Amino acid sequence: MIKAVIFDLDGTLYRGKTPLPGAAETLDALRGRGVKALFLTNAATMGRAEVAAKLNGMGLRAKKEDVYCGAYLLARYIAQNHKGNPVYVVGEKGIFDELKEMGITTVEEGAGVVAVGLDRRFTYDKLAKAHLALKRGAVFLASNTDATFPVEGGELPGAGGMVAAIEKVSGKRPHVTGKPNPYVMELIEKEHGLKKQEIMVVGDRLETDIAFARNCGVKSALVLSGASKKEDIRENGMRPDYVFGSVAELISAVLP
Ligand SMILES: [Mg+2]
Repeated sequence: MIKAVIFDLDGTLYRGKTPLPGAAETLDALRGRGVKALFLTNAATMGRAEVAAKLNGMGLRAKKEDVYCGAYLLARYIAQNHKGNPVYVVGEKGIFDELKEMGITTVEEGAGVVAVGLDRRFTYDKLAKAHLALKRGAVFLASNTDATFPVEGGELPGAGGMVAAIEKVSGKRPHVTGKPNPYVMELIEKEHGLKKQEIMVVGDRLETDIAFARNCGVKSALVLSGASKKEDIRENGMRPDYVFGSVAELISAVLP
């Protein structure tokens, strides 16, 4: 009995700024059957409130509390594990907003944590600052290591590019707080009073969404509306429980 569906966003419910067909209807139908819809994205450029606003702006009803985005997960992890340590951020507004909301200080020098997400103003200076902090013993965290992210008509470089640059120069490996790390599943189970067997993960990327579900031991559905194609399943060896053309097929197949 599925009580909650965790949706990936880009490539699953929308692409760039355009909702995918059937997304709004699927959310409404789930809720009509008493199934909770939660939202999980590795994207770290926006905070929870902004992601919820973006979803609502597309006609996809979402509450801030039901959004788990890369920026929030980074900040939440730091608040739980490295509270009191000033943070050097390579990233955008979302990470700064979430850290501020949790009362965590950001600094340019003397950081105890280096937190990395997608940064579309990434520079040599930022690389140098991150490197210096890590050399002095700072903890290295990353929202995700996604190589690219989808936009209308193509893709753009993702946070993985920044993480790889810092990893290369520092010789250190980051702890990743986003998918496929199971960290967020513990939060979701606790905050929403759910058990693993009551949860399904729906996403478009085998190596993050489906790997995440497998790492957590929950059911998964791959939608072919985004990154991964049907033929990737065999090559990748990552088997989802269900494969759908899009989220529109979810209701009849999974919740009869
Ligand atoms: Mg996706």
